[in-house]
Amino acid sequence: MPRKKSVEDFESDSEPTTVDLTELEGVGPQTAGKLASMGYTTFESIAVASPAELAASIGVSETTASKIIASARKRLKIGVETAYDYYLKRKNIVKITTGVRSLDTLIGGGIETQTITEIYGPYGSGKTQLAHQLAVTTQLPIDKGGYEKGVLYIDTEHTFRPERIAQIAEAFGLDPVETLKNIWYARVFTSDHQMLITEKAEALMRPKNIGLVIIDSLISHFRGEYVGRETLAVRQQKLNLYMHKLLKLATVYNAAVLVTNQVLADPSTFYGDPTRPAGGHILGHGVTMRLYIRKGKKGVRVVRLMKSPYLPEGEVEVLITEKGIIEA
Ligand code: ADP
Ligand code: MG
Repeated sequence: MPRKKSVEDFESDSEPTTVDLTELEGVGPQTAGKLASMGYTTFESIAVASPAELAASIGVSETTASKIIASARKRLKIGVETAYDYYLKRKNIVKITTGVRSLDTLIGGGIETQTITEIYGPYGSGKTQLAHQLAVTTQLPIDKGGYEKGVLYIDTEHTFRPERIAQIAEAFGLDPVETLKNIWYARVFTSDHQMLITEKAEALMRPKNIGLVIIDSLISHFRGEYVGRETLAVRQQKLNLYMHKLLKLATVYNAAVLVTNQVLADPSTFYGDPTRPAGGHILGHGVTMRLYIRKGKKGVRVVRLMKSPYLPEGEVEVLITEKGIIEA
């Protein structure tokens, strides 16, 4: 048994070191203070911000914001690692089966650890079902495509159903009770609560041997709380921080992160599907693999790979059944 780690242990070995933001071009002590107070405490958080967002957050022009961002990006190069180090780290990546062969093939073998995978789609399309299925398949033996690890399930819409987990577990030949005992479940009520729970959850990662973190859904609270243009920058900044927390869980603990997301109607689209995922660029940049699920003909669900660093776009059809999601 590993020694029980307390939250403090994790804080001491994982807190980002404080950086001197005035090292950035165009940042004096006053701007540095504003940046910090808005949560931009690392070069990374600034480097991934958009000029409009940063400008609105700290009250500078977009030109100035662009300069600060460019400077932060330049600064980050100091932190490069050799390709060999990166190769070694990536060698530890595990691909967790979805339990659906064609879907696994589409996404290159399964959902990857050290990565944030997003599934977005309209209400009722099957995002929560896929989340339930992965909460089970992560626990499968490694030779069956699983990871033999536990799951952290953060539920913002109160749609987690243990009965459904039990049903899917049985279909995969797992003991339903054991399967449920390996899922740590948290219901969250506000975006602040969600941030806090995710932060606290870090202390569970090693002791509970968590291999998959699910956030279902990622931004429903953010969207509900920050309405109107004037709050958009603050919301995006918070979301940015949140994505960083998730990526840290994924990389430090070699865990997969699955987030679900809603769709927005995009009135500017004239061709094709007039929907796009919510969350804007911050979310788009933060996720490595992006899947889109929608209802097709005769009850099938169409899962489309929208974004991957190394796989072609494509789609597969699946069915949602009593036994979970299966090939159509
Ligand atoms: P989303 O999270 O995208 O809003 P869900 O993942 O909750 O959607 O999917 C809901 C759909 O899943 C339902 O419309 C239903 O068709 C299907 N579903 C849920 N449970 C079962 C089951 N036990 N057997 C068959 N289909 C199911
Ligand atoms: Mg859902």
